[in-house]
Amino acid sequence: MNCPQCDGILATLEFDRIEIDYCSGCGGIWLDSGELKVLLDREGGDILPKVPGCAQGKEKKRTCPICLRGMKKVLMGRNRILLDECPGHGLWFDSGELIRILEEACAKGRAQERTDSLVQLLDEVFVPGS
Ligand SMILES: [Zn+2]
Ligand SMILES: [Zn+2]
Repeated sequence: MNCPQCDGILATLEFDRIEIDYCSGCGGIWLDSGELKVLLDREGGDILPKVPGCAQGKEKKRTCPICLRGMKKVLMGRNRILLDECPGHGLWFDSGELIRILEEACAKGRAQERTDSLVQLLDEVFVPGS
C-alpha cells in the first residue's frame, strides 16, 4: 500500500497481533477498520467519540490506500484530533496522532503501563524530525 500523505510505501509493524501499517517517510499510520478498537480494548481504553463532517478544508483531502477513493475528515476525542477515514477500510493518522488518541483514551485506564509500552514502541519507530 502507498502512503496517502507522501506516497511512500507503507510497512507493516505487528503489535500484539494487530497489524499497524506505517510510513517511515512521514510517520503516518494506517489502521484497518476495527483495529483501533482492538488496540484500545487491549490497552484498557475506550473508543473515543467521532465527530464526522465538520472538519472540511483544514487539511488536503487524502485517498484511502486500499480503494484509492477520497477519505472523509473525522474529528476524534476531546482534543478533536483530525483524522481521515474510509468507512469501509480504516483510519489514517498523521504522525503523532495515534499516540495522542491512545494517551487520551487510556488516561484513566488501569493499563497505563501497557499503553506506555506501545507509545514507546511508536516513539522508537517514528523518530521525530525526519
Ligand atoms: Zn508517508
Ligand atoms: Zn477505502
